[in-house]
Amino acid sequence: MPHLLNVWPSVSRQLASSPRVLLLFDYDGTLTPIVARSEMAILPDETRRSLSVLAALDRFVVGVVSGRGLLDLEAMVAIPGLVYAGNHGLEISGLEMDYVHPEAPGFEACLADVADLLEAELAEVPGLVVDNKRLTLTVHFRNTPDSFETQVDSAVVATVAPYVQTGQMMLTRGKKVVEVRPNLDWGKSQAIEKIRRECVDNPLPVFFGDDQTDEDGFAVVQDAGGLAVFIGSTRQSTKALHQLESPAEVGQVLELLARLD
Ligand SMILES: [Mg+2]
Repeated sequence: MPHLLNVWPSVSRQLASSPRVLLLFDYDGTLTPIVARSEMAILPDETRRSLSVLAALDRFVVGVVSGRGLLDLEAMVAIPGLVYAGNHGLEISGLEMDYVHPEAPGFEACLADVADLLEAELAEVPGLVVDNKRLTLTVHFRNTPDSFETQVDSAVVATVAPYVQTGQMMLTRGKKVVEVRPNLDWGKSQAIEKIRRECVDNPLPVFFGDDQTDEDGFAVVQDAGGLAVFIGSTRQSTKALHQLESPAEVGQVLELLARLD
């Protein structure tokens, strides 16, 4: 898997020859380093500046596609003119969109019940956070001692099992998180497709991501002839055909993109 900066001459030629480019980024672990508490994942100043510059150029449509709730994501990024997809794409704003997946709100009450059950079940686990984001829910255990990990995972699986068995909910896992999501055929890949269709001029899609739920997004942009960039070590397995080591390197690429001829 080539490091994106090593093949930048050919990649930049491909991007420069595309009249429009759709640049999409995951947030945590991609635009910002992963930190102990999600509210401390502040966008670096240089990254914010580069994204703002790119968003103002006619060539680019810029968006952020995250598991965070939409309002939280918009507040963290806070750059006007971007497309924002929150809750793994169940809610999208920007371009002409003010989208909520039509079936997602029907799961809110159920998710609130699941949140209460998980809060009670996991109350004794140190450092654990149950974050009900209205349309999806995240159990964060980054600040929990590793010795609790198996117990946390089993407790979440057992608590959510009745809702999984009835087909209402599904579980996904990421870096020190387990997520409870409505069992809908909708995630980052569908959100990316929807954003791409909304750009009438069929832009070349590029997607940067670092975690499990980004993998479907990688597949969808590569199938469309675009570029998928995995953020992390080459030792990890991914569908993405390009790689960068860190959010700091994503920052470098943003600066290169802003200087594209
Ligand atoms: Mg991420």
